[in-house]
Amino acid sequence: MRALITENSRLYRQLLDNILGQQGFENDICSSIEEATTFLNSEQYQVICVNQHLEDGHGSQLIQYCNDHNTNNQASILYLTIDEQSAKVDTSLGIDRVIIKKNLQQITDQIIRFTEEIADPKRSESRILFVEDSKSITALITSHLSQAGYNISHFCSGERAWEDFNNEISYGSDVDAYDLVITDINLEGEMTGNDLVSQIRDIDDARGFVPVIAITGENSDELRLSLYQIGVNDYLQKPVLIEELLIRVNHLITNKRLLDKVHDQRRELYALATTDKLTGCHNRHSLMEFSEKFISQAFRHNYPLSLMVIDLDHFKSVNDTYGHAVGDIVLSEVGNLLNLSFREGDLVARFGGEEFVVLLSHCDRKGANLKAEKLRSQVEALKPHDLTVTSSIGVTAMAVGEMADFATLFSRADLCVYEAKDKGRNRVVSKPLKDEG
Ligand code: GH3
Ligand code: MG
Ligand code: MG
Ligand code: MG
Repeated sequence: MRALITENSRLYRQLLDNILGQQGFENDICSSIEEATTFLNSEQYQVICVNQHLEDGHGSQLIQYCNDHNTNNQASILYLTIDEQSAKVDTSLGIDRVIIKKNLQQITDQIIRFTEEIADPKRSESRILFVEDSKSITALITSHLSQAGYNISHFCSGERAWEDFNNEISYGSDVDAYDLVITDINLEGEMTGNDLVSQIRDIDDARGFVPVIAITGENSDELRLSLYQIGVNDYLQKPVLIEELLIRVNHLITNKRLLDKVHDQRRELYALATTDKLTGCHNRHSLMEFSEKFISQAFRHNYPLSLMVIDLDHFKSVNDTYGHAVGDIVLSEVGNLLNLSFREGDLVARFGGEEFVVLLSHCDRKGANLKAEKLRSQVEALKPHDLTVTSSIGVTAMAVGEMADFATLFSRADLCVYEAKDKGRNRVVSKPLKDEG
C-alpha cells in the first residue's frame, strides 16, 4: 500500500511517515502542491494526507486538483488542520477524515484507526442489501458503494429483498450474512421499507440485529420517529449526499464487526467454561447444568432417555507404567472417540478422572445397550499410544413415562459399572431404572 504525505511541517512529515510506515505503507513525501501533483500523476495511492497549509497554497486546492483531474480518486483522503474552525471544509471535496493537530497521541491513534478501516480486507466481504426502486438512485449508490469495495445485492421490491434476506443459508456460518441493509421507504410492490425492516427485526436470531439505514424522499418528524421506532439505525434524506452515506455505512459496519467480535468472544468463553480441556467433552459442571433439562424434556415430550457411565479399566496402571503424560494422551483420544460416536443431540461429558457420562435423548435402554457394546469394542480397538485400553460401561434408562433425577440415573449406571468390573471388566452391564419384580 502506498501513501502520499503532503505536509509543510518537517516534524509532521516525519511523524506521518513513521505512523504510516508502521502501518505497512510506502510513503512519498512532499511539502508543496506542485510536488504533490507530480507524484499524483505518476503513482496510485491508497491514502493521501493533505495538510491545510502547504508551501505554495491551501490543502483544499490539492484535493480539488485530484477531483478536477480525476486522478487517484480511489484514494482515501486524510486532511490535517490546526484548528477546528478551519476543519469545516466543504465535504463535497471528498475528504474522508479530518484530523485536528492537537495531541500527538490522539493523532497517532486516529491515523492508525483510519488506516485500519481502509486496509480492512473484510470490506470486500461486507455484504449490503440495497433496496431501492429508482433506477437513477440505484445506479448512483451502487456505483459508489462498489467503488468503496462493498459487496452489494440490489432489489427493487421489499418482497424480493425479504425473500433473499430470509432465505440466506448463511445463518450459523455468519460468513455470508448481510452486514447492512439500506432501504428506500416507497418501493415497488406491496411491501414498504417499513414493512421490510419490521420483518427483519422480528427474526429472532443474529440476523434480526443487522444495522439498517433508511432513505426517504420525505422528511417529517413523524416519519423519522416512526422509522426509529421500528428499528432503523440511521436515516438519510434524498437527494443522498454520497460522502455522508459512505461515512454512515462505514460506521455501522465497523460497529457491527465490533459487536460480532464481542459475540464470538462470548461464545468462546462459554465453550471454554463448559468444555473439558483435555478431552473436548462437556465438563462436569456443564453436565450438571444440562442434565435436568434433558430429563424433564424427555418426560414432558414422552420419549426415552438413556444414561451411560464409561470407566476405563486399570487406568491407574497406565499412569504408573507410562507416566501421567501418556495417561493424558489416552484420555484425550478416548474423549475424541466419544465425541465422534454420539449424535449431535446427545451429551458427552467427562465426569472426572477416567470416567465419562453420556446422556442419549430418544434412545431406550435396548438402543443404548447396542451403542454401549459398540463403543466398548471401539475403545478396545482404539490403541491410543499403541496401548490396549478397555472400558467398563454401565447403562440405564428412563423409559417413556418414567421419571428420575440425574443422581438416581447416575448411581444406577454406576452400580452397573461396579458389576462390570466385578465380572472381569471390558464389558457392558445394563439395568432398568428399577429392579423388576
Ligand atoms: P478400574 O479398572 O477399577 O477402574 O481401575 P482404575 O485404575 O481405572 O481406577 P482408579 O479409580 O483406581 O484410578 C483412576 C486413575 O485415573 C487414577 C488417576 O491417577 C487417573 N487419573 C484421573 N484423572 C487423570 C488425568 O487427568 N490424567 C491422567 N493421566 N490420569 C488421571
Ligand atoms: Mg422509491
Ligand atoms: Mg477406572
Ligand atoms: Mg474411575
